[in-house]
Amino acid sequence: MSVETTAPAGGSILVVGGGISGLTTALEAAEVGYEVYIVEKSPSLGGRVAQLNQYFPKLCPPTCGLEINYRRIKDNPRVKTFTMAEVEKVEGSTGNYDVTIKVSPRYVNSNCTCCGDCSAACDTEIDNGYNFGMDKVKAAYLPHEMSYPQRYVLDPVIIGTEDAKKCKEACKYAAIDLDMEPKTFSLRVGSVVYATGWEPYDATKIDNLGFGRYLNIVTNMMMERLAAGNGPTAGNILRPSDDKAPETIAFVQCAGSRDENHLPYCSYICCMASLKQATYVRAQYPDAKIYIYYIDMRTPGNRYEKFYKKLKEDENIFFVKGKVAEVSEDDNGNIEVVAENAVTGEKIRQTVDMAVLATGMQPTALKDKPKADLKISEYGFVVNDFDKGGIFAVGCANKPLDVVSSNQNATGIALKAIQAVKRS
Ligand SMILES: Cc1cc2nc3c(=O)[nH]c(=O)nc-3n(C[C@H](O)[C@H](O)[C@H](O)COP(=O)(O)OP(=O)(O)OC[C@H]3O[C@@H](n4cnc5c(N)ncnc54)[C@H](O)[C@@H]3O)c2cc1C
Ligand code: SF4
Ligand code: SF4
Repeated sequence: MSVETTAPAGGSILVVGGGISGLTTALEAAEVGYEVYIVEKSPSLGGRVAQLNQYFPKLCPPTCGLEINYRRIKDNPRVKTFTMAEVEKVEGSTGNYDVTIKVSPRYVNSNCTCCGDCSAACDTEIDNGYNFGMDKVKAAYLPHEMSYPQRYVLDPVIIGTEDAKKCKEACKYAAIDLDMEPKTFSLRVGSVVYATGWEPYDATKIDNLGFGRYLNIVTNMMMERLAAGNGPTAGNILRPSDDKAPETIAFVQCAGSRDENHLPYCSYICCMASLKQATYVRAQYPDAKIYIYYIDMRTPGNRYEKFYKKLKEDENIFFVKGKVAEVSEDDNGNIEVVAENAVTGEKIRQTVDMAVLATGMQPTALKDKPKADLKISEYGFVVNDFDKGGIFAVGCANKPLDVVSSNQNATGIALKAIQAVKRS
């Protein structure tokens, strides 16, 4: 692999993470003339937004925003992207950082036309991470239809097997290279921006909410995939145990968040995410009854408040102020939710067809610590110290945010990165 590393020292910016925050930071800096490298650890750019069915508050598909960004990247020779890549080391100081990048083998080169013949020839199936394991994909796969780059990838599990050979033989474009090895190279950049984002909090850790024990309890991110046309049920929201169309659904707010035993902070987006998902259910099942159990509804700003207000007028959506204390499942797969109504003090027992846990955000940097001189909070968020140097954090790597605020934050951080480069 040949890598262009000749950008002038002090004139270039490295963005770690190619989700919406990283893409925006990169484009804002590149479009005013700076060289930008994006290092993304997965096989595609897009981050979590690529897994959403619709965006609140407009309820448009995330494809719109991502496709515009992809086009801007394609049209801008100053942006270079590396997927399946991670930062191994950052050394130096503002204006002169030496960064070591490791790229894992994809086993598919740029000849790939996405014809899919390798996938058809491959027998091995793996859990589909894009759909949170709710279905399988072949071990030769396109990460998802909005992938950037549009290029297949072979899962390492088939390397060295007959299946890998079958994939290679099936490819008419000489795009499969089974001898690809991990590669390491260095870049010199003036500033580094961490846009490493978040992952859903592991709901199996919330013992009292039954996730992992009861099939008909799903997380909010699984709900995004169930509602998505390119998801495991082709967009039909069906309860997992028996594919029944749900007539009643409970949303359990603050599942893990605002809880000293799990995530002590508010995850900011999960009230709006449940309100949005209530609209998915209402659109598919006009008679379904929806129960939203909450401690406080947090819908910051006029647009989100309006969204909430509209749903409050819906006679099939019931807002119950009360924290869910426990759940159980009966022999028919129905879920019983137990909560105390904070207004009346009554104990409520409600049986529903399925429940959705509004699980919160945990920064990826908690487990995968940036290998750079950075301060990480006890919850894993990267703390910005603007007096210190030229390494910054943006978007959900820094705090829980929605997309609009991530984009605004990215514009500001792009400016900080440019200032760091200029100061040197
Ligand atoms: C259920 C749910 C629904 C939501 N719906 C909406 C909505 O409708 N509207 C809205 O505005 N917001 C919504 N959000 C919030 C939205 O998902 C976030 O605002 C958005 O994902 C933030 O983008 P980001 O780029 O900061 O992080 P991410 O999307 O997490 O992107 C981070 C990127 O960095 C990569 N990465 C991670 N670690 C590394 C590493 N070490 N090296 C290299 N790359 C790395 C990741 O692979 C990923 O591509 C929702 C959230 C949830 C939980
Ligand atoms: S790797 Fe080859 S066979 Fe597979 S999708 Fe790409 S071009 Fe088609
Ligand atoms: S956004 Fe709502 S559901 Fe999420 S942690 Fe905050 S209050 Fe709880």
